[in-house]
Amino acid sequence: MAKKIIVAGGGHGGIACAAQLAAAGYEVEVYEKHARDQMGYDWTDIFDPKSLRYAHLPMPARDKYEYKTNMTFIPPSGRTPVKQDVPESELEIKMERRDIYDLIITHAEKNGAKFFFSQAVTGAILAGDRVIGIETEKGQVFGDMVIDACGCESVLRASLPDVCGIQKHTNAFEKFYVYRAFYNRASEEEPEHPYKVYMLPNGRMGIGWVACEGDYSDLLIGEFEPFTVEEAEQKAAFFRKDNPVLGDKVLRGGYMVEIPVRQPLSIMVADGYAAIGDSAFMTVPIIGSGLADAFKASKMLAETIIADKSETYSAETLWPYQVKYYKALGAGMAPLALVKLLLAKITPAQLDYLFDNGILGADELTITADSTSLGSMLSFNPALLAKAKSLIKDKELTAMVLKLGKDIGRAAAVCATMPKVYGRYPVQRWAKGYDKLFRLKK
Ligand SMILES: Cc1cc2nc3c(=O)[nH]c(=O)nc-3n(C[C@H](O)[C@H](O)[C@H](O)COP(=O)(O)OP(=O)(O)OC[C@H]3O[C@@H](n4cnc5c(N)ncnc54)[C@H](O)[C@@H]3O)c2cc1C
Repeated sequence: MAKKIIVAGGGHGGIACAAQLAAAGYEVEVYEKHARDQMGYDWTDIFDPKSLRYAHLPMPARDKYEYKTNMTFIPPSGRTPVKQDVPESELEIKMERRDIYDLIITHAEKNGAKFFFSQAVTGAILAGDRVIGIETEKGQVFGDMVIDACGCESVLRASLPDVCGIQKHTNAFEKFYVYRAFYNRASEEEPEHPYKVYMLPNGRMGIGWVACEGDYSDLLIGEFEPFTVEEAEQKAAFFRKDNPVLGDKVLRGGYMVEIPVRQPLSIMVADGYAAIGDSAFMTVPIIGSGLADAFKASKMLAETIIADKSETYSAETLWPYQVKYYKALGAGMAPLALVKLLLAKITPAQLDYLFDNGILGADELTITADSTSLGSMLSFNPALLAKAKSLIKDKELTAMVLKLGKDIGRAAAVCATMPKVYGRYPVQRWAKGYDKLFRLKK
């Protein structure tokens, strides 16, 4: 009899995994709290299209996407903007989130996965420490294992027993509280920089962006501290001053969401359980992109499940999924997570200094969600640190940058010692040491 896999939450990685498992003959059921036509946000996403092919997903029709424009990073003073220079072969695509959902849900259904919409998951059903199913608003569902694709603050992950060692909630500086809205376009003038990303805008700890998109302007404000929609409207005034295109009529979006901007979960599997996508914090720290990595992880998880000939889906047999993920993508997030922590400590004047003196230039700021460009991001580090050391006059900033270099080296060393084979105590000991690297010390 086919093994039954439950996907809790309709996250992108979960649906992509559902499609691959259903194609391989598993009985797959996806439980999503929203109605089908309410899924996804009313805005566009940018992601690496190669991740679709990697996860055996179809490419969208050509009229469903556009290629993304390079971003220009704006330092706090606004003095020395730096434009990214993403090579053509690495350009990401911009697509309506609802079209992305249509693409992957249709594909998963075609492969035989069953979807249950408007059915919120409320927690895990446990037999001892093992997850054997999910509690939903409409009753219990049992299966051979559960894939958690419920997002950043997953209720399923939060309901796991402590002995699994899986982090249940995010800590301070681990997620951005985000306001995003599309506004009317208030000026016909073509801006010199159509896609601006503001670092520490208006003295706030976080980022913001304004993208001029034909007949509308896209505003995003992300901060480490929560704020309200009313406060977001006040903050928008700062961006309007510098961007005549940004009107004041909300056309789409206009609400608050959360994005994890941290290293991936240090333990993402338990007996009968695996987390994927935002639920495993698989976003790129600082920029918060998570679609490509969620898709890529779906292939690693599906292959691990299919390779489990014991059909036990235990922490031990699911562990290769985490090892593969860290090797391909997860370990590369550590340096970015550490750079992000710098954003929480650095003063606007210090950040300006890095831009004004070319220490942060186009090479350093060409970060995309694609692993290749992430690789180049990592390789910039030693040179950047040497450059910084010779140029920075501010002692505190020099110390901060050098410490960052040391922490990045330490994180790489700890990543390399991740146990290759699962054992609860060695894994939890490793995870404790790894997580400690990212604790913010003021
Ligand atoms: C404003 C914003 C802009 C972004 N822009 C980009 C971008 O341009 N490019 C990019 O790559 N990434 C972007 N991201 C990140 C990206 O959305 C995620 O990283 C990606 O979607 C992977 O997350 P996920 O699908 O696992 O989780 P989510 O998108 O959080 O999806 C989780 C799903 O689970 C459902 N769910 C939650 N709880 C329950 C429950 N209890 N029961 C049942 N269902 C539940 C939710 O309704 C949702 O459908 C952005 C995120 C935000 C918020």
